[in-house]
Amino acid sequence: MDKFYLEIITPEKTFFRGEVESINIPALGGACSILAGHQPMVFATEPGSLFITVDGETREAFMSEGFVEVRPDETIAFSEAVEWPEDINERRAAEARERAEEQLRRNRSSAEYRLNRAALQRAFARLRVKNHGRID
Ligand code: ATP
Repeated sequence: MDKFYLEIITPEKTFFRGEVESINIPALGGACSILAGHQPMVFATEPGSLFITVDGETREAFMSEGFVEVRPDETIAFSEAVEWPEDINERRAAEARERAEEQLRRNRSSAEYRLNRAALQRAFARLRVKNHGRID
């Protein structure tokens, strides 16, 4: 299978850099698969699962809000946070989920509602990736 160059950058580090066969990215409004030769485009991501396939092996990671630029020769993704399952602190994500749920139960401004809903989405996505798709 043809490969393409992928770089995934967060404010703290380069999360991934190398040749891949495909990626599946949590785009706003639905997952987006990219293979070599994909037409150039830019799109936003929302918190969810990122799948990276290298040499026939697919790994899942958590990916937060960000954006992706697909160029003819490479794809670059920028995100607030990207984490492999083993780097996700489950307790922290569970606490973030409880905090966001508690805040959402209170009647807040629409700006706060959006922030808390996004925090809840990040927490759920982290817990799903950590537990291979399952959330208690
Ligand atoms: P919290 O309220 O726990 O900070 P958050 O969703 O607001 O959660 P982010 O803004 O997405 O956190 O991330 C801030 C930094 O903390 C990033 O470096 C991210 O990788 C890290 N981080 C956040 N939550 C976790 C977690 N559960 N496990 C590991 N790293 C985390």
